[in-house]
Amino acid sequence: GRGCWRIYQSGAASFSVERLELEAGLRKAITSNELRLFFQPLVDLRTGRIDGFEGLIRWQHPVRGLLQPFAFIPSAAEAGFIRSIGRWVLREACREAIVWQQLFPDLGPLEVSVNVSPLEFRERDIVTDVASVLAQTGLDPHLLKLEIVESALMQDAEATMRSLAAFRDLGVKIAIDDFGTGYSSLSYLRRFPVDTLKIDRSFVEEATRDTSVMPIIRAIVSLAHALGIDVTAEGIETRQQLTLL
Ligand code: MN
Repeated sequence: GRGCWRIYQSGAASFSVERLELEAGLRKAITSNELRLFFQPLVDLRTGRIDGFEGLIRWQHPVRGLLQPFAFIPSAAEAGFIRSIGRWVLREACREAIVWQQLFPDLGPLEVSVNVSPLEFRERDIVTDVASVLAQTGLDPHLLKLEIVESALMQDAEATMRSLAAFRDLGVKIAIDDFGTGYSSLSYLRRFPVDTLKIDRSFVEEATRDTSVMPIIRAIVSLAHALGIDVTAEGIETRQQLTLL
């Protein structure tokens, strides 16, 4: 009508119906408690003790079952739900960390790590939101670690600097997630206050199959040690990987 065309393709239509359904489902997931936070242990290789956990989101979908983040986080981002999902994860992780303290006082302080998506990290209110979740839950800020991928830190160095300084003032720790696979500009390691490097799991996965991987892991570990930064290897699943690391 009025010189305006709309072209429909069956594939495109089913794609958007699928997306609308997913978006409606996500809205419901948040309000009717279908999101789940799973915890992966972080082990200190010197002592063999668990000293923290990383919270990983899943969606217990009423029809499709337990969904991994890649199946719904991109759509959640497009639909504008990332902030509400991110805050839910943060609250849930902090609340859970308090419960661990009460249940297992003998284990000592257990850290909780929360993944912050690039989209969330860019939001101006992220620092205020983290501060208010800490205040609400009563978690010691030193026990919270935010994991951020390299590419998110690199996008706007000035803004990153401000946010990281604010998190440091708050007492919250910062980890660079999936280290070694993003932009890998090493100069920012000097400038940004960072507590931990997390070696990307692809390196750990291939370490036992491909001998060219070990020098990279070794280099990341020495780099971190030399800078006084902690280093964590992601996704250790076999005894062999553990021994190599
Ligand atoms: Mn992570």
